[in-house]
Amino acid sequence: MADPKGFMTTPRQDWPRRPVEERVRDWDEVYVPGALLPIIGKQADRCMDCGVPFCHEACPLGNLIPEWNDLVSREDWWRASDRLHATNNFPEFTGRLCPAPCEAGCVLAINQPAVTIKNVECAIADRAWEEGFTEARPPDRLSGRTVAVIGSGPTGLAAAQQLTRAGHTVAVYERDDRLGGLMRYGIPEFKMEKHHLERRLEQMRAEGTKFRTSTAVGRDVGAAELRARYDAVVIATGATAWRELDVPGRELTGVRQAMEYLPLANRVCEGDLRTSPLSAAGKHVVIVGGGDTGADCLGTAVREGAASVTQLDIYAQPGTERDEDTEPWPTYPRIYRLSAAHEEARELGTAPAADADARLFAASTLRLTGDVDGQVRSLHLVEVDAQRRPLPGTGRAVPADLVLLALGFSGPDRTDGLIDQLGLELDPRGTIARDASFATNVPGVFAAGDAARGQSLIVWAIAEGRAVAAAVDRHLTGSSRLPAPIGPYDRPMAV
Ligand SMILES: Cc1cc2nc3c(=O)[nH]c(=O)nc-3n(C[C@H](O)[C@H](O)[C@H](O)COP(=O)(O)OP(=O)(O)OC[C@H]3O[C@@H](n4cnc5c(N)ncnc54)[C@H](O)[C@@H]3O)c2cc1C
Ligand code: SF4
Repeated sequence: MADPKGFMTTPRQDWPRRPVEERVRDWDEVYVPGALLPIIGKQADRCMDCGVPFCHEACPLGNLIPEWNDLVSREDWWRASDRLHATNNFPEFTGRLCPAPCEAGCVLAINQPAVTIKNVECAIADRAWEEGFTEARPPDRLSGRTVAVIGSGPTGLAAAQQLTRAGHTVAVYERDDRLGGLMRYGIPEFKMEKHHLERRLEQMRAEGTKFRTSTAVGRDVGAAELRARYDAVVIATGATAWRELDVPGRELTGVRQAMEYLPLANRVCEGDLRTSPLSAAGKHVVIVGGGDTGADCLGTAVREGAASVTQLDIYAQPGTERDEDTEPWPTYPRIYRLSAAHEEARELGTAPAADADARLFAASTLRLTGDVDGQVRSLHLVEVDAQRRPLPGTGRAVPADLVLLALGFSGPDRTDGLIDQLGLELDPRGTIARDASFATNVPGVFAAGDAARGQSLIVWAIAEGRAVAAAVDRHLTGSSRLPAPIGPYDRPMAV
C-alpha cells in the first residue's frame, strides 16, 4: 500500500467512456483510448491492503488483487503482470468484460465506492502487452500425452493453455470458422475489440497449442473416434441451447433469437458481410430479456441505426442500493446498473415509450401481431407483479419490426450429436454431469465451463478451464502442480 490514506483522499474514478454521439457511430470499444493509464496509479492507491481481502475471496480465479494494486501504485508493471498472470490466463478479457464480483466484495464498498479493481486489471494486462511481458511460454519438454479440447471459448482456451504449458500435446476443436466461443460471435466489438483475442491466440499457437476450426465434433469428426485418438478429452462446448418465448405470434417473420442476431453483426465487423441480413437499421426493435445479452443487442441495434429500441425486463426495477437483508455485502447484489448500451439508449432517447434508458421493467410479453405478409409489427405486453401475475389495466402495444429474444440458455446444444455419441450423462438441469474431479461418466472424458456449470461468466469459465486442466494433468501423470481455483460445485457467494 503505497499511500495508506489513498482511500480517504482519492475519490473513485472509472475509465471514462467516449461521448455517446461519437461512439455509436463506430464499433470500437466505448472507452477513451489512453485515458486509463494516467489515472490508474492513484486509483490503485485507494486499496487498503486488507488483512482479509474479500475482493480475492469474491473472485473465482482467486486473483491476487491487493498485491497487484500495490505494485501498480508503485509502477512496478512487470511484477504486477507476473502476479496477475499467476491466476488469470486472459486478464484483458476479464478486465473488459467481467461484471467484477471482486468490486462488490471489496471492503471499501461497505461504506464508499469500491476500488476500481477491474480497471486496474485491464491496465496491467494492456501494459503487459505493450511492454512485451507476455511472451509465449512453451513447455521445456513434452509429456508424450495428448489431449483434445472441444470448444474454443474461454473455458477451452484456458484449459488448452494450461495443459500445453504443462507439456501435453493439445488440439482444440472448434465448430465455428473462428476461435473464441461467445467472445467471438456473441459479445460485440464495442465491449471487446477482437484483436485482444487474436493476440492471445497467437501466443497460444507459439506455445504449441494446435487449433482445428470449422470442425464440429459429433458431425465432422466422430466423438468416439476422437476419444480413441487422444489420451484425454475436455468438453468445453458451452451452453448455447436458447430459451424460447412461447406466445402467439412467435412464428412471425422478424422474431429472432439474440444469438441469431449478434453473430451477424459481429461478422460485419470481421469483414465477412457488408451489412447484416438481420440489421436493425430503420426498424422498431424490441428486445425481450433484461440481461447482458439483451444489453448487447441494444448497443448493436443503436449502432445499426434502429428507428427505436426498447428492452423488456420481467423483473421490477431494482434500487440503486443493495438490500442488506437479502443481498448483504460481500455478495453480488442485483442493483440498478447503467451499462454503456443503456447510457447510449438514455442519451439518444431510443425508446420513447419506455423509461429513461430504453428498459421497461416488470413487463411481460402477451403476444406478437403482424401484417398481412406475416411480418411482426407489434408486441403486446402487460405489467406484472413480483409473482409475474398481470396487473389489470396495464396492457399496451409497442411497435416492433424486429423482436430479439434474449431469454438465456438452458444447457448445451445437442444438435451435433457429441453428447449422445459418447453416451454422456446429464444432470437434472440438462448440463453435462461430472464428479468432483470434473470427470464425466465416460473414462478419460472431462467436462467444464458453461456446458457443465450452466450459463455463467467469463471469469468462471477461465477458472473452470484452469481447474479442469489440473484434473486432466493429474489423470495423465498421477499428480499435478497446476492450480485449481475452483471445484465443480463451487458457486458465487450468496447468503
Ligand atoms: C451475448 C452474450 C454476451 C455475454 N457477455 C458477457 C460479458 O460481458 N461478461 C461475461 O463475463 N460473460 C458474458 N457472457 C457469458 C460468457 O460469454 C460465457 O459464460 C462464456 O463464454 C462461457 O465460456 P465457455 O468456454 O464455457 O463456452 P462458449 O464461450 O459458449 O464456447 C463454447 C465453444 O464450443 C464450440 N462448440 C460447441 N459444440 C461444439 C462441437 N460439437 N464441436 C466443436 N466445437 C463446439 C462453440 O462453437 C463455442 O465456440 C455473455 C454471453 C452471451 C451469450
Ligand atoms: S477488499 Fe478492496 S480495499 Fe481490501 S484489499 Fe481488496 S481491493 Fe483492496
